[in-house]
Amino acid sequence: MQDQKQDLIRERAHAIWEQEGRPEGRHAEHWQRAEQEFSSSGQQPELTAEGATPASDSAPQLNPGDDAAPGTPGTGEDVCPDCQGSGRLQGRTCETCGGTGIVIKGVAGG
Ligand SMILES: [Zn+2]
Repeated sequence: MQDQKQDLIRERAHAIWEQEGRPEGRHAEHWQRAEQEFSSSGQQPELTAEGATPASDSAPQLNPGDDAAPGTPGTGEDVCPDCQGSGRLQGRTCETCGGTGIVIKGVAGG
């Protein structure tokens, strides 16, 4: 139902607003983003239930060649061994580094 959808969007917009530290005067932007989440995915995003910890939606994206997330203590960026830092392998995007040409490797002796 349309009314129900409006309610969901309002809740989602509110959640986004809170996640961003409750900035002032950004209501329209958050509403727009909430609407886009509904329309783009075709499915309802998980609403943050009261008191519940949001799912790890801030989890860093790892490539297959990464040992750890960027910024993890004891790790550092290294040139991708498969594509030699070009980000491409045999004319295609290198999957090891996700096309970045860089992988995150554990630094020995840390
Ligand atoms: Zn690579």
